[in-house]
Amino acid sequence: MIKNFFNCKIYSMENDEIFTSMQIKNNEIVGLSIENIQNKNWLNIDLGGKFILPGFIDTHTHSFEGGLYSLGADLSHSKSIKDVLEIIESANPIGEMIFAFHFDENSIKEKRFPTIDELDKISPKIPLLLRRVDGHSCVINSSAKKLMLAENPNLNLQSQILTKEENDYAAHFFHKKVNLEGIESAYLNSAKIGINNGLTTIHTMIGDAAQNPLHFKWMKNNLTKFPLEFILYPQILNVKKAMELGADRVGGCILADGSFGSHTAGLTKPYFDQKENFGQLYQSNDFWIDFVKEAHDNDLQVGVHAIGDAAIEQILTAYEIAQKENPKDLRHEIIHCELTSDAQIERMSKANVSAVMQPMFDRLWGGRNGFYDKVLGAERTERTTRLKSIKTAGILLTGGSDFYITDLNPIKGIDAAERIHNINEALDRKEAVELYTINAAKLSHDEDRIGSIKIGKQADFIICQNDPFKLKSFLDLEISQVFKNGVKIK
Ligand SMILES: [Zn+2]
Ligand SMILES: [Zn+2]
Repeated sequence: MIKNFFNCKIYSMENDEIFTSMQIKNNEIVGLSIENIQNKNWLNIDLGGKFILPGFIDTHTHSFEGGLYSLGADLSHSKSIKDVLEIIESANPIGEMIFAFHFDENSIKEKRFPTIDELDKISPKIPLLLRRVDGHSCVINSSAKKLMLAENPNLNLQSQILTKEENDYAAHFFHKKVNLEGIESAYLNSAKIGINNGLTTIHTMIGDAAQNPLHFKWMKNNLTKFPLEFILYPQILNVKKAMELGADRVGGCILADGSFGSHTAGLTKPYFDQKENFGQLYQSNDFWIDFVKEAHDNDLQVGVHAIGDAAIEQILTAYEIAQKENPKDLRHEIIHCELTSDAQIERMSKANVSAVMQPMFDRLWGGRNGFYDKVLGAERTERTTRLKSIKTAGILLTGGSDFYITDLNPIKGIDAAERIHNINEALDRKEAVELYTINAAKLSHDEDRIGSIKIGKQADFIICQNDPFKLKSFLDLEISQVFKNGVKIK
């Protein structure tokens, strides 16, 4: 039977078209009209003047970690070491482990991480992982340390705060201990959070870069267990393995560099507050050139984490070389793409590179006297999260939360995109919504299937109580229902 939604305002996100009624059959949009039509053979649903948008798409998440950590201790509102310890103490262990995330030493009174001794006091036996908000450093308790050293006696776990390889190793050590039941509940939890915020599709990174795709294969075979759609990235540095896994793409947060927060993002000029420090480039130019070329030649889309301008330069150069030798429409991704020069933006456009960006990074760390200002100085801070310049250059620009780094909430992302601290880089409402709808669909070459309200496309849409394009603040958007493939999931 055809379901007819009428008496509503439908923002299609396709050529500025607005409709008043929409017919869906099974999972597909089969009719759209500017008239308030009804038919006695249809199931007619009067929406009483409500508003419809395409379902939102988040193009960059770590939904396994995000879903898992969200079941543990969220430290985003802690103001002191005492708060941190209390929140962790009351958190539920998951599979005999405790996960704590969203820790930011700059937001708490003492301006430091909790010590191993402090963590041992609240969790003497159960292994505990506390991750910094950017995911680029962590602290573990002694019980975790003991288990890790038993597995690998060569590890160097002397320092209180683990960074780089040790940080990756620690995170991976915890993640791989989660069983299939835990994995499923982590993704179900992410799906629940996402649907609540209007998401119908989520790109998610799976794997630990060091060649291990973790549960990628299991997810690929079990996608139908989840009420929304996950688009999978094998987050590994091994192209052959990605092909064996049957993936359409390779990469994710495989690291060209680290983060500003950990002073490890790769810069062409030193940090403002550490005059000798240029950050880190995790791989050589040749490594990326070979990696990208191999993926490109095998028709795999590539995604690489690049934050600082030196890291972006490396990845952009590798994409340019591959594209020049063998032009293809693969839409390779620079993920985060935070600090860019005008020249780099122009080159990205020419090389058909996409920018997968996190407007929330600017909301959290941008602006005068913000964290970026402190570590990069004013001039460079102005050149972070350059949404408008990137969009204007004709680059495919999409939005992602990088969940667990920021909330799995496109409403916050759209709001942040409209309010970029450097007003020259802020987007208007329509452009900001496009980041999470039609542009996002293009990133995975799915623009004929999802991302807008159009006849023949999948019936993925949200019903809002208030007008998304008339609201003063997008944060006030009220989503009452969410449909995926024509099925009501909220
Ligand atoms: Zn990421
Ligand atoms: Zn990343």
